[in-house]
Amino acid sequence: MRELNDDAVIYAFASDLRPVMTVPSGETVRIRTKDCFGNQLAGPEDELDEIDWDAINPATGPIFVEGAVPGGALKVDIRSIEFDGHAACCTGKDEGVYGDKLDGWSTHFCQIEGDELIWSEGVRIPLRPMIGVIGVAPEGDPVNCGTPGSHGGNMDNTAVTAGATLYFPVVASGALFGLGDMHAVMGDGEVSVSGAEAPGWATVTLTALPELSLADPLIEDAQSFGVIASADSLDAAADRAVHEMVDLMVAHADISAPDAVMLLSLVGDVQVCQMVDPQKTVRFMVPKRTLHDIGFHWPFGA
Ligand code: CA
Ligand code: ZN
Repeated sequence: MRELNDDAVIYAFASDLRPVMTVPSGETVRIRTKDCFGNQLAGPEDELDEIDWDAINPATGPIFVEGAVPGGALKVDIRSIEFDGHAACCTGKDEGVYGDKLDGWSTHFCQIEGDELIWSEGVRIPLRPMIGVIGVAPEGDPVNCGTPGSHGGNMDNTAVTAGATLYFPVVASGALFGLGDMHAVMGDGEVSVSGAEAPGWATVTLTALPELSLADPLIEDAQSFGVIASADSLDAAADRAVHEMVDLMVAHADISAPDAVMLLSLVGDVQVCQMVDPQKTVRFMVPKRTLHDIGFHWPFGA
């Protein structure tokens, strides 16, 4: 296993970045991540008004994965997520869903104890660890780490957690993988514009899949298989995710498109990842049980 510290951070995913680490396909890397504020909120006394806004949403990387080629995919198995012991939440004027009613920034600092986030003495929340920003170099211009897209990025998807596997479309040689913005807990939608933002470590296994061609990221866990799509609206994102799932079923199982859509209408769940970033993100999750029943063959899984 390799280890990468958070000296090397990027603020945009791009195809012309110089990699800070090169690994063979199949390597596991333990990656140190700053929180989305660049670790500038160290305690309850720190204010968002005073931070350097050029140093937010850092992702650690980029990592060059040997064998990852344009037109192929990068598979990312999330092995573990570890937190330092504290987290910060925020909301602000014109931020999130309720920002139209707010005047300035508000922050809330929390400790993490065992499997719980301590919001206050009386309010303890079970942890739901996740990685907010995770992705590869995008097609075309650089994409700021605060924006999600077909390359991944700031998807803020609660399903991106230990035990999940992601598949990203590769457009740059080596994929140029990075991740950051971990959350100790977050609700679907991320309505305030932040989760419980927490620095820590993520351990991932990076595997090149040159023969898999994708339009958008896929996600797989023990129960489900899904497509993640980001677009201007939740509607447009959901529309794309469902279309791509139907195409995947027709390609990898002996099923017609109308049958696939009818079946997906019974068992597929459109779930909101986040509705507060410059592009909105949706995941469309299908039970593996049903995919198994229709003979869906996915040769790229664990
Ligand atoms: Ca985020
Ligand atoms: Zn975050």
